[in-house]
Amino acid sequence: MAREPGNLSQKKTNTTLDAVPVTAMKGVGPRNAERLQKIGVSTVQDVLFHLPARYQDRTRVTPIGSLQPGDQAVIEAEVELADIRFGRRRSLLVRLSDGTGSITLRFFHFSGAQKSALVRGVRLRCYGEVRRGPSSLEMIHPEYQRLEEDEDSGLEESLTPIYPTTEGMHQLTWRGMTEKALALLEQNPAGLPEWLPPELLSQMKLTDLSAAVRYLHRPPPNADQDLLLSGQHPAQRRLAFEELLAHQLGLRKLRRAQRKTKAPALVGDGALVQKLFQQLPFTLTAAQQRVTQEISDDLQQQHPMMRLIQGDVGSGKTVVAALAALQAVEAGYQVTMMAPTELLAEQHLLSFQTWLEPLGIELAWLTGRHKGKSRQGILDALDQGDARVVVGTHALFQDDVAYQSLGLVIIDEQHRFGVHQRMALRDKGVGGNLHPHQLIMTATPIPRTLSMTAYADLDLSVIDELPPGRKPVGTVALPDTRRPEVVERVLSACKKGRQAYWVCTLIEESEALQCQAAEEAAAELELALPELRVGLIHGRLKGPQKENIMARFKQGELDLLVATTVIEVGVDVPNASLMVIENPERLGLAQLHQLRGRIGRGTAESHCVLMYHAPLSQNAQERLKVMRETNDGFVIAQKDLELRGPGEVLGTRQTGEMQFRIADLLRDQPILSQVQQAAELMLDRYPESVEPLLRRWIADRARYIEA
Ligand code: ADP
Ligand code: MG
Repeated sequence: MAREPGNLSQKKTNTTLDAVPVTAMKGVGPRNAERLQKIGVSTVQDVLFHLPARYQDRTRVTPIGSLQPGDQAVIEAEVELADIRFGRRRSLLVRLSDGTGSITLRFFHFSGAQKSALVRGVRLRCYGEVRRGPSSLEMIHPEYQRLEEDEDSGLEESLTPIYPTTEGMHQLTWRGMTEKALALLEQNPAGLPEWLPPELLSQMKLTDLSAAVRYLHRPPPNADQDLLLSGQHPAQRRLAFEELLAHQLGLRKLRRAQRKTKAPALVGDGALVQKLFQQLPFTLTAAQQRVTQEISDDLQQQHPMMRLIQGDVGSGKTVVAALAALQAVEAGYQVTMMAPTELLAEQHLLSFQTWLEPLGIELAWLTGRHKGKSRQGILDALDQGDARVVVGTHALFQDDVAYQSLGLVIIDEQHRFGVHQRMALRDKGVGGNLHPHQLIMTATPIPRTLSMTAYADLDLSVIDELPPGRKPVGTVALPDTRRPEVVERVLSACKKGRQAYWVCTLIEESEALQCQAAEEAAAELELALPELRVGLIHGRLKGPQKENIMARFKQGELDLLVATTVIEVGVDVPNASLMVIENPERLGLAQLHQLRGRIGRGTAESHCVLMYHAPLSQNAQERLKVMRETNDGFVIAQKDLELRGPGEVLGTRQTGEMQFRIADLLRDQPILSQVQQAAELMLDRYPESVEPLLRRWIADRARYIEA
């Protein structure tokens, strides 16, 4: 292959490589450029940041005698025998030996010429994966080449990079392309400017950026493969650090900008808050009190609160939200509370009705099903300020919804909303240049460093305590062959005056199918349990029907509630103490934990039966095991991170946020707190380097840079 590093001749050497399109490299035409575009690679800098996913060691020859199954290795040996086998599949078997041992090469596809070239005495160099064969170690379809008499050169000099690739682009193309990109960097060392200040580099013991890039594309033979493969090599850390730092800077910048905007200071006389305290049938836990205080302090500031409340399922977030709402109402402002589903919004409405209406506060309720006149009536009440507190779904933030004096926005189950939505909300303010305060609540208790990374634009409060008297839910996993026993168990619990949930799941996201499954289960259970009052709830029921069923279950007029996963969040019926989940293997840990959180809310012992369908995958077995072993949301979330990865757990995969080229939030957890420190340092002392870092790393740059 002709190398022509001079293609981008000297006159352009001042250009940084993020300004040089891939097509400037010889051999990269419009077709490849288009393919590269699909994976977000459009400049030479992008090529340099497209790091190998793994490496092969073709730098040394391994004696056959020391090979282990699973090794990928280069061997050099002599053919002893080549033979065609006619078994179930016709195959060519070639027996090789190097004096330390022997191995068989197995080919299912081969030509006659290939066979006749592999005669006794021929020397081969092969590269492949070693497996245990029927009678000896084997390599299946290894790469091989014939070695001439005493030839011993030609081994690779560095580990062979294997690139993540896209359709139509081969490893060789990638190797050629990175070779050219590295040559351009060589000629033009300023092509990849270092934006991290020397102070930071030495303090955090980070290597030089260009050196790290070069190392990762062409690691030397003595490079520590294990470190490289696990992503822990200092060179990888160097790049991951910078990328994480850029994300952190983006979010912190947002937060600083937010802080500079104005919000109404919500200072009340405490009268309503005091009344609610008197009326509550319980006292707040210490954690609830602490968080309530943090919120109250924020609300009195003239800058918008941006606070995330994390609290495990059942930790009592709703009452904390209600107290915040009261402070806003006392101060003469409106409050809006948004939930991700209608059912959850309804539950909040019920709680707020219980707590706020006796205090003489006018509530409103708005969801997608309010249409025409009824909707207009609600909009008028919000616009004219008659309604002080409104609860609802996304419908609350449609363009034509206007508030007279919105002071506080509360969002429940935040993990479904992204930075985008958070930013859109601030524009629903009081008018003028005042923005409302924002309180965001989530029941996904992720490790602190991780949440401070993912939600760095927010302040964090944690309700790390459950109300007293909660007993952990005893959880068992049973195969569905024991269904009759489980049905019996439902009967005996309900006869004792308890209530139960029966949850149906489906693999398909199709709501229709899920509802149908629930309908069938309900019909079947009604037949099997004639003594019980059975209700059914799913997403396709009309709003008033749903409300009716929930109300009857809550009042104890139904014993058993058959449901789809719509009851996953927020439903609160303390007398329900048994939950059966059909096919729990179809759900992720977070979802199972949320569902199970519907029970164990009262004083009775609660039980959860995970009624699975055998056989279970390895991953499913692990999930069910975690559920049986712990009720601790933090432990479950950590396990969930390991099993599913941060994108899924944080809900950022859908929103496209926190998608990294190099960093991996799970793997890089150990450096997250350093990244946070570094971000503070950069913003305080090196603000001029912030923007170039954002430009380099954040795909959705404009949003952060403009903020
Ligand atoms: P979550 O944090 O999951 O949203 P909820 O706000 O729904 O939890 O609270 C769960 C249940 O615990 C509700 O019935 C609520 O009234 C009750 N609760 C909240 N705080 C306390 C407390 N300090 N003591 C006793 N019960 C409480
Ligand atoms: Mg809740």
